[in-house]
This record gives sequence, structure tokens and C-alpha cells, in this order.
Amino acid sequence: MGQSNCLNEHVAAVRALTDAKGFTSERERIWEMLALIHTEVSEATDAYKKGKSEETVGEELIDATIRIFHLLSVLGLDADALFEEKMARNWQRPYKYNTVRGG
Ligand SMILES: [Mg+2]
Repeated sequence: MGQSNCLNEHVAAVRALTDAKGFTSERERIWEMLALIHTEVSEATDAYKKGKSEETVGEELIDATIRIFHLLSVLGLDADALFEEKMARNWQRPYKYNTVRGG
């Protein structure tokens, strides 16, 4: 089975957008970029809490994904390889692994 490259294609597409729209991608911004991923997850949480549509919640989750892809481009990582490796590792774990108090 050949490895998918779809995540890396999304990472490249996001990087093209951020470059075109003037968002910088210097490694000095990594802390800021990590924080901004949190803001989008918080926006999704707030939208859900306020009873906004699931499409609105999803849009905020996509914002978070876009910010994650941007950061992955800055880190220069192979997103597809990382995803495949992590999923394979997770499949090897026991049922409800690392779950003591729910989640
Ligand atoms: Mg947002």
C-alpha cells in the first residue's frame, strides 16, 4: 500500500495561502502559532457552548486545522508519515488506553 500524501498537500496549500496573504512563517513565531491553535479550539468550544450551529463549530475546528498545517509547514515535517506512524501506534494500544477519569 503506497503512502498517502494528502496531508502534505494540505500543508503545502495552507503555506501557499499564508505566504500569499502576508502571514510570516519564521521559526521565532512557533510559540505564537501554538497559542493561536488554542484560540481556534477555544472558539469552537465557545460556539458549541452558545448553541451555534455544528457548521460553525466545524468551521472553527477547520481554522484550528489550518493553523496546525501552517505550523507543520514551519517545522518542515512529513505530516502523512507522522499521521500513519501515530495511527499505527494507537491501534497497538489497549481498549480505552490512558483513560482513568473518562475522555
Ligand atoms: Mg476562528
